[in-house]
Amino acid sequence: MVMEYIASVKTAWELAKAVKTSADAIDDAQMKLQVAELIGALADARIQAAESSELITSLREQLKSKDEMKFDGEVYYKVKEDKEQDGPFCPTCFDEKGMEIRLHQNRSRASDSRWICKSCNKYFR
Ligand SMILES: [Zn+2]
Repeated sequence: MVMEYIASVKTAWELAKAVKTSADAIDDAQMKLQVAELIGALADARIQAAESSELITSLREQLKSKDEMKFDGEVYYKVKEDKEQDGPFCPTCFDEKGMEIRLHQNRSRASDSRWICKSCNKYFR
């Protein structure tokens, strides 16, 4: 289902490009403008389709996973079925995009023990 609408948008995009080639051959400013707008709208649709497909994939992964994300007030830890903890994970990426992004220890200064998310570049604790 996800892949089908991406394919539809791609087909529409290719048709629009073909229409543009035809429209360019006709000296009609109004038509050229409308075709340019159509291509712009389809370009947006392609980006949004790709983004929502990524989100759906990541949400599916989460549904499959039996591991539970626990928020400790600052960051997330994943509690596995065997109760073992994994993490920490970025709270911003998890809350906003549902993405499980592992945090890394910030090593830019020895005195700085904060965690950094390499996806959104935020620091924690
Ligand atoms: Zn993040």
